[in-house]
Amino acid sequence: MSIRCVAFDLDDTLWACRPVIEHAEQHFYAWLVAHYPRITTQYTAAALIENRVAYMRQRPELHYNLTQLRKNWLESLAHAHDYPAENLCETGFTVFWQARNAVTLFDGTREVLEHLAAHFITGVISNGNASVQHIGIGHLFDFVHSAEAAGVAKPHPEIFRQALAMADVAAHEAVYVGDDPLRDVQGAADAGWRTVWFNPEQRPWPGGQAPDAVINNLAELQTVIPLL
Ligand SMILES: [Mg+2]
Repeated sequence: MSIRCVAFDLDDTLWACRPVIEHAEQHFYAWLVAHYPRITTQYTAAALIENRVAYMRQRPELHYNLTQLRKNWLESLAHAHDYPAENLCETGFTVFWQARNAVTLFDGTREVLEHLAAHFITGVISNGNASVQHIGIGHLFDFVHSAEAAGVAKPHPEIFRQALAMADVAAHEAVYVGDDPLRDVQGAADAGWRTVWFNPEQRPWPGGQAPDAVINNLAELQTVIPLL
């Protein structure tokens, strides 16, 4: 077997992203209602999300650092509504971030990760700001890499090259598992990794660099990896 390292995307690969982000946004808005009412009298919850998305879109140079982007947005909100910036930035970010990490792993994911961790160098490469340590699965990974730490986001191959150095393996010894055809499959393939497309909803492949394998359930990795 040539594969020595297995690395994962997080959102929509180990857990469903949308419900946890929606809950985190609601939780954050309720906190704003209680502490920063001048903001919530001007913005509904939906309008505030639109405002944040528009703010982030105007700053593509920071797209790899979602934490900094969100804090900068909170600072701009504080200034616009005549509040001190520091508490809104730091506490406001933490309120969102803790809820954003209240994820529910897909069924069987923990068991698959435990099995793989016993046999492979395991890792995480994420564009987002979830924390596997905070979630309680950090001990199952030998390395954790992020767009924030890399200075570039997936699908840029540089983030995958840096992860190879962290794992101390060659590209052909590494497989990346993710749900996004471009950011995960194309990006990892461009850096020479083997690729597994996690496709639980059995969507058609959209085109472009094809993955080396397709799985509908992470448990299939144990069958697929020896074939790569
Ligand atoms: Mg994903």
